[in-house]
Amino acid sequence: MIEQEMDFENRIVSPEYSYSDEETELSLRPKTLADYVGQDKAKENLSIYIKAALQRKESLDHVLLYGPPGLGKTTLSGIIAREMGVNLRVTSGPAIEKQGDLVAILTSLNEGDVLFIDEIHRLSRNVEEILYPAMEDFSLDIILGKGPSARSIRLDVPHFTLVGATTRSGQLTAPLRDRFGVLLRLELYTPEQLAQIVTRSAGILGIEIDNDGALEIASRSRGTPRIANRLLKRVRDIAQVEYDGVINEKTAQAALSRFEIDELGLDDFDRKMLTTIIRNYSGGPVGLDTLAAAMGEEAVTIEDVYEPYLMQIGFLTRTARGRCVTPLAYDHLGIPHQGCSAQQSIF
Ligand code: ADP
Repeated sequence: MIEQEMDFENRIVSPEYSYSDEETELSLRPKTLADYVGQDKAKENLSIYIKAALQRKESLDHVLLYGPPGLGKTTLSGIIAREMGVNLRVTSGPAIEKQGDLVAILTSLNEGDVLFIDEIHRLSRNVEEILYPAMEDFSLDIILGKGPSARSIRLDVPHFTLVGATTRSGQLTAPLRDRFGVLLRLELYTPEQLAQIVTRSAGILGIEIDNDGALEIASRSRGTPRIANRLLKRVRDIAQVEYDGVINEKTAQAALSRFEIDELGLDDFDRKMLTTIIRNYSGGPVGLDTLAAAMGEEAVTIEDVYEPYLMQIGFLTRTARGRCVTPLAYDHLGIPHQGCSAQQSIF
């Protein structure tokens, strides 16, 4: 096995952004709603809101995008700006440390601009408080000075559209969530939609690929376009060095099994997590924190990054008493069934 794939920080099937994505992520980003594959419900709603705002010559209402990493939240914010014909400013919750950082950003925007804040749930309370009047009345309340001589001034900012992204809308404070007019949930993609994305990306990168090759990569991409694009590039390298450069079902299969990504897109980490629940906790239920400690991973990462796909393919359920491995997962791992004692799933 290739050493890098043992390193869970650098999992090839991690949906989170990694520096190896940098070189192509920009060129592969769809620029229009028409090029943006899938997410039909979110797209349909957005296109109506965009049309309505354009007709009224107003800025678009603030939009909250939520869903697991790598599903196209940043991409969608760029599309919104483009369709509205305005500029896009990109930042993230952890990058805005002080109130002054946010004031500087807001006062430098032009009328109608889109401000994208990734990981918006990680904004500090202090910074969030500046955001409330800015979102609501397009004004800032700034306190100048300290102590008895302190005074507050009100500053107008341009009518901007805030596009916030988070992995779960429940992580947001209620006052912040309530200030978004449009809440859109992004879903994991189907293998067919991902195959479309892989074919489109291959076209842009000048990679030869047939339909079966695209579908093979797609079905191992855990419902996530970022992973699909990353796997495409890795498979291309192997197809180029060891085959005739063309990606078909056979070359895709050979390359992907080399990375120990199985036919459902599971890697070592997933298998280790499922077998840990089976071997150490009789298949569950096991609490999230206990599982996180056993895996040496943060609970929030397990919840946001690993679980959504395992739940989508029916390998894991969340019950009132913890996580349970399902018979489907036992079959996949070739382990004889053991029942999970908490029957009723709450999600
Ligand atoms: P997020 O912000 O949700 O983590 P990104 O918007 O950065 O995800 O998307 C990661 C990559 O996946 C992008 O570079 C883009 O190429 C691809 N991508 C995402 N969504 C789509 C889509 N709907 N259609 C085509 N490509 C997509």
